[in-house]
Amino acid sequence: MSHRLPTDTDDGLLLIISGPSGAGKTTITRGVERKVGDSVFSVSYTTRAKTSAETEGVDYHFTSDEQFNAMKGRGEFLETAGVYGKQYGTPKAPVAEQLRRGRLMILEIDVQGAIAVKAQVPDAFAIFVLPPSEDVLLQRLRDRKREDDAQIEKRFKAAKLEIESAKNSGVYDVFIVNDKIDLAIQRAVDLVLAERARRRS
Ligand code: 5GP
Repeated sequence: MSHRLPTDTDDGLLLIISGPSGAGKTTITRGVERKVGDSVFSVSYTTRAKTSAETEGVDYHFTSDEQFNAMKGRGEFLETAGVYGKQYGTPKAPVAEQLRRGRLMILEIDVQGAIAVKAQVPDAFAIFVLPPSEDVLLQRLRDRKREDDAQIEKRFKAAKLEIESAKNSGVYDVFIVNDKIDLAIQRAVDLVLAERARRRS
C-alpha cells in the first residue's frame, strides 16, 4: 500500500474512449491526455506485432501469447478482449493506483472491453468516437496506409459492426462525431471537465 502524495486528490475518474479504427480515437485520446493535466494513459498489453510508428511501453506493452496467458491466469487484467485474432488487455494495478491518486485514467479500449469495465466500475465515463460518415471512415482507413486492401476491407466491416454494437450496448455516456479533429478533442476535454465538476458538486 503506497502513501498519499501531496498531489493526490479525490477526483479520480476512469475514462473509456472507444471507436472504430480510422475514427481518430487515438488522436483524441492523446489530445485529452495532453490537455488534462493530471491524466494518465493506460498502456495495454497486446499480442499483436508492434508497428514502426509505435513504442514499447508507450503505446502498448507488446508481449507473447504465453506471457499474456500467464498474466491472465494470475488475474492481472481488469479486462481482456480478442480483436482481429490478437489478445489485448488492460492491466489492473495501474488503474487502481491512478484512481486512488485522484487522476484521470484513460482506457482506449474496444466495445467488449468497455462493457466489461463498466460492469466492474459502473461510474466509469465512456465516450465513443464516430466518424462523420462511412465514406469518410473508408477513406481514412485507406489514407493511413497501414494495411493492405484486404485488411482495410476487414477493418471497415468490423468498424460498422463495432458502431452498431456500441449503440446497442448502453455503456456509452456520449458519442462524439470526429469531423474536425481539434474540435473533437476539445469536445472530449470539455465533457471530461464537466463530468468531474458534476461529480464534485
Ligand atoms: P490496434 O491494434 O488498432 O491498436 O487496436 C485494435 C482495437 O483494440 C482498438 O479498438 C483498440 O481500442 C482496442 N484495444 C486496445 N487495447 C485494448 C485493451 O486493453 N482492451 C480492449 N478491450 N481493447 C483494446
